[in-house]
Amino acid sequence: MDYPGNLFVVAAPSGAGKSSLVKSLLELDSHVHPSISHTTRPPRGQEKHGREYFFVSEPEFDAMVQGNAFVEWAMVHGNRYGTSQKAIEERIAQGSDVILEIDFQGALQIKKAFANAILVFILPPSWEELRSRLERRGEDSADVIEVRLKNAAIEMAQVGKFDFVIINELFERALFDLKAVVHAQRLKYAAQRRARADTFQSLNIT
Ligand code: GDP
Ligand code: ADP
Ligand code: 5GP
Repeated sequence: MDYPGNLFVVAAPSGAGKSSLVKSLLELDSHVHPSISHTTRPPRGQEKHGREYFFVSEPEFDAMVQGNAFVEWAMVHGNRYGTSQKAIEERIAQGSDVILEIDFQGALQIKKAFANAILVFILPPSWEELRSRLERRGEDSADVIEVRLKNAAIEMAQVGKFDFVIINELFERALFDLKAVVHAQRLKYAAQRRARADTFQSLNIT
């Protein structure tokens, strides 16, 4: 199915800067909308139900799986996370761009369900920097950080399956790169044809 809106999927090992980059993109570009996932993970300090995630219990998550509410779901770092099919489909069918910030397993599932999804992988500049960002963020315990670093190697091995790779060394540069990926999609023939139908018409392009 060819929808008028773009579906961007951003994956990265924990600490690479995915949330910071997506957050900045959303602040700069009001045509891109986040998809709020459901998770069984407890909220962190400032997180609010319905803003970062819909925080649900294990039985609630089970019921959603049974009811086919998720286009994809995955177990990540010991918690379950899922993306609602309906929320995405409604938005891209209306012509809005949607961005998902999910793990690599989910990203590859999304590509199967939405063939035109654009997959972006964010890499850290080095292992040392990845570790120090996780430590600096101060949101996870030492044990959790070790699990996330161990998983990072498995996650980064999947980068070749993605359409675009952004190395988040200098934040502003990485943000520029992410904006470029979004912008390029809007310059594709089919998108321009829709967005600038009047120009095509006045140029007599049929
Ligand atoms: P959270 O997503 O609200 O937990 O916030 P983060 O800790 O991920 O990031 C906070 C803010 O700092 C975000 O709005 C980012 O745009 C910004 N930010 C994060 N890292 C950098 C950086 O290295 N350079 C710059 N210029 N801004 C950053
Ligand atoms: P993720 O969502 O991939 O787990 P975050 O966006 O939470 O990662 O970023 C992890 C930490 O690294 C945060 O404290 C963030 O402010 C910081 N960070 C993100 N990008 C950069 C960067 N380019 N340089 C330095 N620190 C960064
Ligand atoms: P965190 O707990 O740090 O917010 O997220 C942990 C991991 O789960 C990240 O890699 C994040 O991208 C991933 N994640 C968040 N939501 C979803 C989702 O709906 N589906 C999948 N597959 N992964 C998700």
